[in-house]
Amino acid sequence: MRIDWHAKARDLALPRQAFIDGRYVDAISGATMPCISPIDGRIIATVASCDSADVDAAVRSARSAFEDGRWRNQNPAERKRVLLAVADQMEAHAEELALMETLDMGKPISDALSIDVASSIATLRWFAECIDKVYDEIAPTPQNSLALITREPVGVVGAVVPWNFPLMMAMWKLAPALAAGNSVILKPAEQSPLSALRLAGLFAEGGLPGGVLNVVPGLGPTAGKAIGLHMDIDAVGFTGSTEVGRLFLQYSGQSNMKRVGLECGGKSPHIIHADCPDLDRAAQAANSAIFFNQGEICNAGSRLLVDRRIAEPFMEKLMQVARTKAAGDPLDPATSIGALVEERHMQRVLDYIQIGKGEGAKLLLGGQRTRSNSGGFYVEPTIFDAVTPRMTIAQEEIFGPVLSVLYFDTPEQALQIANDTMYGLAAAVWTGSIDTAIRSSRALRAGMVYVNCYDVDDLTVPFGGFKQSGMGRDKSLHALEKYTELKTTWIALSP
Ligand code: NAD
Repeated sequence: MRIDWHAKARDLALPRQAFIDGRYVDAISGATMPCISPIDGRIIATVASCDSADVDAAVRSARSAFEDGRWRNQNPAERKRVLLAVADQMEAHAEELALMETLDMGKPISDALSIDVASSIATLRWFAECIDKVYDEIAPTPQNSLALITREPVGVVGAVVPWNFPLMMAMWKLAPALAAGNSVILKPAEQSPLSALRLAGLFAEGGLPGGVLNVVPGLGPTAGKAIGLHMDIDAVGFTGSTEVGRLFLQYSGQSNMKRVGLECGGKSPHIIHADCPDLDRAAQAANSAIFFNQGEICNAGSRLLVDRRIAEPFMEKLMQVARTKAAGDPLDPATSIGALVEERHMQRVLDYIQIGKGEGAKLLLGGQRTRSNSGGFYVEPTIFDAVTPRMTIAQEEIFGPVLSVLYFDTPEQALQIANDTMYGLAAAVWTGSIDTAIRSSRALRAGMVYVNCYDVDDLTVPFGGFKQSGMGRDKSLHALEKYTELKTTWIALSP
């Protein structure tokens, strides 16, 4: 049966309060912030706007939960049971969560349901399942000793997340941090607090003890900064821009040297070699790599590097697919490109398009605001040709549906252009040669290299970047490294 998402949206009860010490509360100051839906520019809710006083209260609650061991001292199998029960709660409320995601940040409802919510549930289940299966170590010390190397939760964790995948980015932090036994203070982006607030209640209903998860919606420079500078937060897991990632490193140095894990921006190269085994598939992938989620995706393939020898046939295929793409109503299940998160961000993307034109790149497609009658914030899928490596649109992360196409003459030149960036999140290579694939993968300075595909993903593999794309990894067992401390217990045996 076809769901009428507009009708569901009208009936949806939206959360408005922070979640601290096991209950929903207003900000201590009483301050609120408007939640503007980018679908039509309307205010859909006013949400508590937390500041350092609320962060303090959340940290006190999280710290006391950690100290009395109400969560971390539960057997791993019991923590697993609770987290799996939360995942079931999420599944029961999947449509509601997806709708909040779409209303809050403008992504297509079909993606919100089948990707964001489904993948968030899968992430929680994966980490819940792993926590009673990971073992500690015994070191090969001399015979007169026994040394245990054990992992312990790091303590109170701050999770500060962006708006492009609000629920999924939150879950990439929450699932490993909570599974490991930590207490968490989650700050969603001010543009997209709704699903995180609803999630707090679902965790409580699933049986997570009070104080273990606190959610403090608020502005970056107030609530976010208070988390970064807090003397009693042991680690921060941050996803967001490189600019703010740098601030978190400073906050750490200015306060208690808290551990900082960073997942930041990208300007990922997507290389199409002349021996690409399937130009049609590559053209499809190159389109999805930049237009999925309106281009608001950290590992977007925003620089397309094409071997000049196949420029003509490949660009024809690329454009054929691109011409079928258009922004639509995010609440229509047929829509695959929705609205940009807010007016300011839309303007930023449009400004980059002007810069591209001004620097001499050739506009092949799009370039305009669209659907403005809706009152929402939409930009046409946009492609620039004849981009050169030092142009602004080849260097800076636009975080919108804007593709820069560059050409190369040799594989060495492709690698040189690909690595000519401060970022190092992802890269892709299309080639029929195993040699080129492996040599490229070794040479590309990126945390994820895709061969003959783009943005394929699985919970079993780490996600994160080299260079200024961040430090540390989300997903996979490696994510636990961010939220645990290693302890050596050395036992001397009797002589
Ligand atoms: P952002 O850096 O502006 O905000 C991210 C978070 O930081 C938000 O919660 C925000 O409130 C907070 N914040 C902002 N200013 C702050 C300050 N002065 N002090 C403390 N906290 C502050 O990023 P965004 O615009 O929400 O998201 C887009 C960015 O996120 C892009 O650069 C994108 O590449 C990146 N991203 C990276 C990954 C990844 O895994 N590498 C995934 C998704 C998004």
